[in-house]
Amino acid sequence: FPRELVRNFSIIAHIDHGKSTLADRLLELTGTIQKKQTGKNEQVLDKLKVERERGITVKAQTATMFHEFAGKKHMLNLIDTPGHVDFAWEVSRSLAACEGALLLVDASQGVQAQSISVFHIAKERGLKIIPVLNKIDLPAAQPERIAAQMESTFGIDPSEIISISAKTGKGVDAVLKAIVERIPPPCGQTTDRLKAFLFDSLYDRYRGVISLISIQGGILRKGDKIASCHTRKKYEITELGIMHPEEVPTQCLYPGQVGYMACNMKDSTEAHIGDTLHRVNESVDPMPGFQPTKAMVFAGVFPVDSNDFPKLEESINRLTLTDRSVTVQRESSSALGQGCRLGFLGTLHMDVFRQRLEDEYDANIIITAPTVPYKVIYHNREVFVSNPTEFPDVTDSATRVKEIQEPVVKASIIVPEEYFGDMMDLCFSHRAEELDHRYLDSGTATSSRIMLTCIVPLSEIVTDFFNQLKSRSSGFASFDYEDAGYRPSDLCKMSFLLNSQPVDALALIVHRSHADAIGRQWVKKLHKVIPRQLFEVPIQAAIGKKVIARETLNAMRADVTAGLYGGHYERKMKHLENQKEGKKKMKKMGRVELPQEAFFDILSSK
Ligand code: GDP
Ligand code: MG
Repeated sequence: FPRELVRNFSIIAHIDHGKSTLADRLLELTGTIQKKQTGKNEQVLDKLKVERERGITVKAQTATMFHEFAGKKHMLNLIDTPGHVDFAWEVSRSLAACEGALLLVDASQGVQAQSISVFHIAKERGLKIIPVLNKIDLPAAQPERIAAQMESTFGIDPSEIISISAKTGKGVDAVLKAIVERIPPPCGQTTDRLKAFLFDSLYDRYRGVISLISIQGGILRKGDKIASCHTRKKYEITELGIMHPEEVPTQCLYPGQVGYMACNMKDSTEAHIGDTLHRVNESVDPMPGFQPTKAMVFAGVFPVDSNDFPKLEESINRLTLTDRSVTVQRESSSALGQGCRLGFLGTLHMDVFRQRLEDEYDANIIITAPTVPYKVIYHNREVFVSNPTEFPDVTDSATRVKEIQEPVVKASIIVPEEYFGDMMDLCFSHRAEELDHRYLDSGTATSSRIMLTCIVPLSEIVTDFFNQLKSRSSGFASFDYEDAGYRPSDLCKMSFLLNSQPVDALALIVHRSHADAIGRQWVKKLHKVIPRQLFEVPIQAAIGKKVIARETLNAMRADVTAGLYGGHYERKMKHLENQKEGKKKMKKMGRVELPQEAFFDILSSK
């Protein structure tokens, strides 16, 4: 296929601005898929069930379409990018396979936090940006105002903006035209040495790892022997083709084309995203910007019934085949038994994985409070600690800790003016610094919007920040963040003791200024959930050796359901069953009998 007639592009947008809907319209308009009769919220490119349920695209999906323009058949490769802050790195590498991007903005909502972050990524990559205003069919749409916003925020010439309704299809043909006319064709010659950029991978139960690649030069053929710049491992291409939108095998892939390939890779950890592939015995310069994925949020996962660990581990392994960005390590806890410590790119990533795990594993799991990787600096070395049980006791000078640092992010929040005060409060209560703000609309607009930027500890946003942001702004605030390195911080480990015995699975890393409040809150929570014992039990929160909060659980008759609040019938029945089954599932914590369900209740109730 002639390179001049190929266009590689992405759609970049804030969540819900209509990326998947527009992708579907483009596929329909080019005859790649049939117009759906029932088609409601069933975007073709959102393949994972959770993606559809939550209406977000987690994994980048790719499709090739053909479109006749000026009498010539063009090949248009859509490289779909995931729409969430946790996946900034995925966005960035999918864009490395494109020459242009459609910047989609909802005409009723205007520029949002992720519109800005993805715009900057695309701009840095030197992509041709086609601004598109979507949802002009909505009565609340304000195309002129939002166009002015795009001009002031992005420096976009308003005459370049295409107004569309992805829902009704109005204006979508103009988008196709702009893709062909404004986006340059890819570089790369058939005579070049083979150079393929690996930008995504999928796992197929039968064929193993399927990699999505873009050909930067040369021709890739079935049977070719290739090698990875990153691992130096060698493979033979067993199948290749284009995504149309399902896999369609072809004989070869030419420069500028985007497609899939299967080779004898055993598991998805071998398909390094951002890797460059070349012909065996020929060297090429690798594509720049390769970086391994970096887990930033960690949590322990345990089965409710400790006998189920093998089953849980198997489910986790099956899921990580399709999502290599999750890191897995075995972990054992004296309170919860054998489990795994998982690392995620961010909290959404964690939520999505948790939901997939619950579907796959088909039983309740206990997930410990999420933590981030802290840097512990000693006189002669530095270590990263993401598990509270490994965190040193900073109150004890014998540990010789010089400094603790925590990861921070640069957060941007966009809100209507009237919520500005609430957002400032929210940021301050989450230890934000270096607040700065500016108006997005110039002068006359009735309800202006403000962009607030600040530096916030990552640990503060991995718990409830996003939910609070949404509820305190009636859903109007949008939020995005990027990595901003490490900063020194006054952090300490909080332990919880039952009858003077620490319970490892409950330990937390907290900022000293929040310690008292958190200690009191957790002790109250434990007091509600732990079944009463035949003797009195002190429940304490401690920093080092100093107790900072305490509740006392009175002695009681042996009714295991009495301590439960909010009478959940099934849960009560479960507790009763447990009691009936005898004590085998009870954990003796300093002679306090603590059912695994109590952990489930503590850790799953926010
Ligand atoms: P994504 O998160 O960017 O992929 O957004 P979706 O394509 O999933 O769209 C989010 C919501 O906006 C869905 O409920 C769509 O039906 C709706 N939507 C998308 N485009 C339009 C449009 O042009 N007009 C209207 N009224 N709704 C739209
Ligand atoms: Mg989507």
